Amino acid sequence: MTADPLVERMRAFGTTIFTEMSALAVRTGSINLGQGFPDTDGPPEMLAAAAEALRGGANQYPPLPGIPALRAKITEHEQRFWGLSRDPDTEVVVTAGATEAIAAAILGLCESGDEVVTFEPYYDSYAASITLAGAVRRTVTLRPGPQGRYVFDEAELRAAFGPRTRLVLLNSPHNPTGKVFTRAELTLIAELCQEFDAYAVTDEVYEHLVFTDAAEPHTPLATLPGMRERTLRISSAGKTFSCTGWKVGWATGPRELVSTVQRVKQFLTFVNAGPLQPAVAVALGLPDTYFTEFRATLQARRDRLVAGLTEAGFVVQPSEGTYFVTTDITPLGGTDGADFCRELPARCGVVAVPTQVFYDHKDEGRHLIRFAFCKREEVIDEAARRLAKI
Ligand SMILES: *Cc1c(COP(=O)(O)O)cnc(C)c1O
Repeated sequence: MTADPLVERMRAFGTTIFTEMSALAVRTGSINLGQGFPDTDGPPEMLAAAAEALRGGANQYPPLPGIPALRAKITEHEQRFWGLSRDPDTEVVVTAGATEAIAAAILGLCESGDEVVTFEPYYDSYAASITLAGAVRRTVTLRPGPQGRYVFDEAELRAAFGPRTRLVLLNSPHNPTGKVFTRAELTLIAELCQEFDAYAVTDEVYEHLVFTDAAEPHTPLATLPGMRERTLRISSAGKTFSCTGWKVGWATGPRELVSTVQRVKQFLTFVNAGPLQPAVAVALGLPDTYFTEFRATLQARRDRLVAGLTEAGFVVQPSEGTYFVTTDITPLGGTDGADFCRELPARCGVVAVPTQVFYDHKDEGRHLIRFAFCKREEVIDEAARRLAKI
């Protein structure tokens, strides 16, 4: 027996940074702007529907692809906001959060040694899912550009594609940078997917969080010419309806790609969140005003936090969407974000996360850290007061 029974390929993955930093927040009584979860509940209609379903007997296995009412609302919502029309019976599958949809897509599409092109910094489950599948990451770096917006180098993206490219895993609006990929950037990605006959898996969990001052509104990659038939679009209720603990997500796309996800997910979780599925259906049917007010609320919180961070001396990279903003710690004398974040609670009682953990090329992100602004205004204001001390 070896000391560590974990399979060799997973050993590089320790405890996630969120576990470490959230524990540090509790231990030091700090304000946790590390992990991205809201500190208020989602729409009351949704919560009432969940309570009713729970009491009304919706407590057994839902159908494998999700309950019909939810699949119908997922397709209606996609049509309403993005003009995509799908068959709710064959082109939608409900999953245990976006995370399961991403994992099932990669496990179902990648043979061992196949390559996945993605952008760094990336959402932490991407690297683990790619590794579990025995696939290989080809990572393209997003760097703060002249106006502060994160950009990538076209030649670097092109060089990441090759004969073994199986899919591109794209997150836009992007966590942790707050970048919203422009139509020009998406067009380049779409052309490369077609040239190399690769699939696209898009993580759009922040589809409703693009702020009014973003360079461009959100464009789903699946809406670009030639992309619908090769794109699996993933989203989730967690971020849009402030219920990250519910883990109700979904994937939509052409029948064969949805079927791929479904065939893998049936042996991962089979199904999940029976009584929450009807509640998410209610939430997806809320009027447009819900979605615009939600975005306006988050935008105001971003502005409050950015003002506080700027006041405290950070260089703040502009965030066009999501729950997050990244900052450069160099002006405050910091060189390593991980050290900086471990010391921050003792210095001022605030927790952030170093983004270097989301890079394959660690040096690219060593000086950057991420703050979440999906918190009540008084919490953000108190964090700003504390940060002013450093
Ligand atoms: C939160 C998040 C997810 C996970 O969504 P779940 O529905 O909770 O699984 C996936 N991708 C990104 C970019 C996220 O920020």
